Amino acid sequence: MGAVAFHSGLDDPEAWGRALAAALPGVDFRVSPNLGDPAEIEAALVWRPPAGFFAPMRNLKLVVNLGAGVDSLVGRDDLPPVPIARLNDPGMVQLMTSYVVFAVTRYARDIHLFERAQRRGEWQYIHPRALGGISVGVLGLGELGGPAAAALAGMGYRVTGWSRSPKEIPGVRWEASLDAVLAGSEILVVLVPLTPGTRGLIGARELALLPPGAKLVNACRGAVVPEGPLLAALQQGQVGEATLDVFDTEPLPPGHPFWAMPNVLITPHLASITVPEAAAMDVAESIRRVGRGEPPLHQVNPARGY
Ligand code: NDP
Repeated sequence: MGAVAFHSGLDDPEAWGRALAAALPGVDFRVSPNLGDPAEIEAALVWRPPAGFFAPMRNLKLVVNLGAGVDSLVGRDDLPPVPIARLNDPGMVQLMTSYVVFAVTRYARDIHLFERAQRRGEWQYIHPRALGGISVGVLGLGELGGPAAAALAGMGYRVTGWSRSPKEIPGVRWEASLDAVLAGSEILVVLVPLTPGTRGLIGARELALLPPGAKLVNACRGAVVPEGPLLAALQQGQVGEATLDVFDTEPLPPGHPFWAMPNVLITPHLASITVPEAAAMDVAESIRRVGRGEPPLHQVNPARGY
């Protein structure tokens, strides 16, 4: 295999270089913008590369997305038809599950209300509800959504899941109709990939289907739940609370209305990450496989968008 290019505004190139060298001894690892002769690049490890990034790499054979969501890689005009692989490791699954369990449980156990009561210096007793009486909808039952739904079910929540194809997850009732999931979800967790089929998926009509005062957790991509309708639903109380890890514009701009809303919890797009040490073995294996003319691990389907 020829040289490996690296581009990311988030990930540490030195850590990746070390981890990949350990997994693939002798690798020619080049960090953007110092990529040398682009014709020597055969694999690219990238997170949101700029437009035109791949254009000069005429011998590119593999693109590895440094994360799970490949929305910034599909539909580009600078990318030759090479396999695209995503990252997927147990640590990433555990982090996302912990985020979802935290966000759902914070609402289910009224912790958001106790946070506010404490700020008022008030001992506000709210009798806890049994978790089995709390309905949670999980949209997207993939590598991350599936285990998160299973974990919620394992804790006793009443979980309904929605995905394109039927899924059998212990304790999770699969439902084909999005409208039915929405109507039955006190707490809605959104974990679908951003594709042409999911952009704007949860808009004004869908938010209106939720039970009044429902809670929403968006940990996938901002554009799946457009900000205008969400803001209106939060202001009107149709959506009572939201935990948002992802936004149309990141970082969320100063002065954005979400910042000042007591019923919105903002986290800076870190529900789940992957560490190079955990992922480098898979990346090395993908590079070897593509070198042998085989598909890489965790290949995504660009036509499907995920
Ligand atoms: P996967 O690709 O493994 O799974 C996607 C799931 O969504 C599948 O169950 C799929 O259905 C379902 N789905 C896709 N399109 C549709 C549709 N049009 N209608 C119904 N269901 C659909 O993704 P992951 O679980 O790994 O990750 C989900 C997303 O989470 C990522 O794409 C990324 O955007 C986001 N993410 C966010 C992070 C963060 O830190 N906030 C970190 C990592 C990921 P089926 O199973 O039938 O194919």
